[in-house]
Amino acid sequence: MSLKEDLGRRSPHLIQNLAISVFNTYQYRVRHGGNYQKYREYFSKFSDASLSEIESEQRNRLENFLNKSVASSKWYSPYKDYQSLEDFPLLYKKDIIENLGAITTVKEKEAVVNFTGGTTGASMKVLYTKDNVQERNALLDHFRAQYGYKLGKKCAWFSGKNIITEKDIKKGICYKDDYINRIRFFSTFHITDANFDVYWKAFCKFAPEFIVGFPSSVYELCAMAASRDLKLENKVKAFFPTAETILPIHREVIQSVLGCKVADQYASSEGAPFILECTEGSLHIHPLTGIFEVVDENLKLAQEGEILVTSFATEGTPLIRYRIGDRIKLAPKENKCSCGSVFPVVKTIEGRSTDYILTPTNGKINYVNITNSTKGIVGIIQFQVIQNELERVEVLVIANKNFDEKQQSKFKYALSERFGRDMFIEMKVVDNIIKEKSGKFRVVKNNIKP
Ligand SMILES: [Zn+2]
Repeated sequence: MSLKEDLGRRSPHLIQNLAISVFNTYQYRVRHGGNYQKYREYFSKFSDASLSEIESEQRNRLENFLNKSVASSKWYSPYKDYQSLEDFPLLYKKDIIENLGAITTVKEKEAVVNFTGGTTGASMKVLYTKDNVQERNALLDHFRAQYGYKLGKKCAWFSGKNIITEKDIKKGICYKDDYINRIRFFSTFHITDANFDVYWKAFCKFAPEFIVGFPSSVYELCAMAASRDLKLENKVKAFFPTAETILPIHREVIQSVLGCKVADQYASSEGAPFILECTEGSLHIHPLTGIFEVVDENLKLAQEGEILVTSFATEGTPLIRYRIGDRIKLAPKENKCSCGSVFPVVKTIEGRSTDYILTPTNGKINYVNITNSTKGIVGIIQFQVIQNELERVEVLVIANKNFDEKQQSKFKYALSERFGRDMFIEMKVVDNIIKEKSGKFRVVKNNIKP
């Protein structure tokens, strides 16, 4: 028997961990090589620039990006004579899925290929240039460094990779380790009450300084810990949520159990520009990553609504006025943040515009509004509203023993206030709620929307 076979037989877990370590280190070289350092300096230089310097740099970058796009993308070549951004058409997900070849400016083998999760049903692919990947990572690292993070500090990840098997979890394994970079990747598919002890033990023993990943997963773990009166001994410094909108309830429970700062960000795998939370707790648009046009239902500029994004670091698959499907609410212009940054402030990131329940009498109820109905109700760990008919919803609730009959009827009442009298609400307390294929958790599953 060879050494490899011998090791494999003894400890497939160890071998897999080593493989992950090597693969991660390779990825790290791509992301942090080339122009990465140059971009770190660039973002650091502009972090305390004046408003006029920022505005002029933003104009330069927009012009460069649009000029490059019309010159090298077949899709955008008809707009060579553009005068301003408004001359460009909106870009839809459907366009990217059906016309990727015409939109892209790079060959697949020279690009970094990115697949985005299929939350809308269709999986989507975009091509990044290596330079753009380095720029995006430089900005993320610049942002995380404000909270003390750098690669090599112990970090726990909770993201959508299906990294462990049913066999693993039965053996008490809920993670994979990258030994070189000191990252522990936790599975987000197996966080259940029955597996809680396995997770909590692995988490406490690892004692991460930082956490990156899905807020719903970290929240679930924390809510289960809270219902057992557990708190972390080694405090976590910061949690960087990704991929989902972080809700007020997530923030509250995670902060109280882990004792950490929560540093939110808005970005997307197809390459949207960034919104980043500063150390004073405000969300700032980063104007050198792109343009956010906030529009109402008639696509007129508004204070609150869907966003059209134009993203400078998407030269491989140019995103110009891309209707990404997320909503934000801007803060009034005169609101200056005490952190001193002149970057525009966003009041809230409202997340996916398509996550709502349609009601017979009250119209569309957005999921942020729905999650607010748990205020003042004890015992709820996680819940999901499923709609298959206009006048009926199913509400699945994961709860602890405090969610008694009184709390249940309070919760039902709060929901019916939002959904209106004509909606029949069927509530079920369950042990587990199935996650999306992407590993994300969705509060609302609307199966009747057009
Ligand atoms: Zn600020």
